Amino acid sequence: MAPDEKKKNWLEYAPRTRAVRAGQVRTAEGEQSEPIFTTSSYVFDSAAQAAARFSGEEPGNIYSRFTNPTVRTFEQRLAALEGGERCVGTASGMVAILSTCMALLKSGDHIVSSRAIFGSTVLLFSNYLARFGVETTFVPLTELGAWEQAIRPNTRLLFLETPSNPLTEVMDIRALAQLAHQNNCWLVVDNCFCTPALQQPLALGADIVIHSATKYLDGQGRCVGGAVVGNQSLVGEQVYGFLRTAGPSMSPFNAWVFLKGLETLELRMQAHSQNAQALAAWLEQRPKVRRVHYPGLVSHPQHELAARQQKAPGGLLSFELEGGREQAWGFIDATELVSITANLGDTKTTITHPATTTHGRISAEARAAAGIGEGLIRIAAGLEDVDDLKRDLQRGFDTLD
Ligand SMILES: *Cc1c(COP(=O)(O)O)cnc(C)c1O
Repeated sequence: MAPDEKKKNWLEYAPRTRAVRAGQVRTAEGEQSEPIFTTSSYVFDSAAQAAARFSGEEPGNIYSRFTNPTVRTFEQRLAALEGGERCVGTASGMVAILSTCMALLKSGDHIVSSRAIFGSTVLLFSNYLARFGVETTFVPLTELGAWEQAIRPNTRLLFLETPSNPLTEVMDIRALAQLAHQNNCWLVVDNCFCTPALQQPLALGADIVIHSATKYLDGQGRCVGGAVVGNQSLVGEQVYGFLRTAGPSMSPFNAWVFLKGLETLELRMQAHSQNAQALAAWLEQRPKVRRVHYPGLVSHPQHELAARQQKAPGGLLSFELEGGREQAWGFIDATELVSITANLGDTKTTITHPATTTHGRISAEARAAAGIGEGLIRIAAGLEDVDDLKRDLQRGFDTLD
């Protein structure tokens, strides 16, 4: 048996080592790079073995909706990076959130969620889960008192993203985990923007980490996928149980793209952060910029918390131009290099007008309350040369003169 097949305690290794090696099980072919197992089912030595597998007496593969070796390698690698006992891969980030809720909640339960979360997550909670008797109260991300006040006897789950998108507000995960546990709730953190390379919510007390693998885990904008990470009981049994029954499983090909992405995650996250930091500092000096939102800036309201909680500020930033929609659109349209797209977590820098895209479906009042004005532009810094990026954004500034 290859040495990789022996159970290693990956937590004894540094994150960079885990990112490259955790979860790999070599086949008899001795391949250096992980293979893609494109098979929907698995064969048994005998009818008796089939029966033993189905009854659960003997562990092993049955069907790829349940388990697949490539997906498992991704899961074990991400679990090792997040410091969680178990990880399950899912078909998308959204279905990672849905599967968690379906597995852990029932009709009559209540969620307290940050208001500043991904738009589809807001819709999932308020339009779909609500129909099945699970109500959600939305609170301002950074106000611990508001979280506390919103908790009811039937609250089971607190949900947040930190930093938030597009305003990059940062919340104290440790404080929220304490509040959750005092009230018999689970704390669920969508760790999409930091990834385990920059922030490990489980170590800060969170119970479950959610990922849209589509973003930084892939890192090159190729595949849609997601993951849930946590302990054996919550994730290994409950979330996995829902997943293998309902079927929003991750495809082996996508798992392979993500597990190779994990190998370079830390290097990329540091490089994304460096580019974002340089752009944020530069943008702060431009006339016609009212405000720059980036946790790496001293002017950021939670700058110190971010420095404590995260290894680097991340690749996401936004800034408010003087003027409104017309100026923001003109700025965006004048760029030639950066991509006008709402995706992020890519080697290619992206530029977005949140008020008319990612946040276009919420009311103008709700947008204003959330601080997302018509002059706001979001940038997800990629890995291009930062001077080229500045020159490109300067094309936008030139339209404002
Ligand atoms: C993109 C995103 C999601 C949803 O992920 P998909 O892979 O698109 O389903 C969830 N949370 C955050 C923070 C995201 O950015």
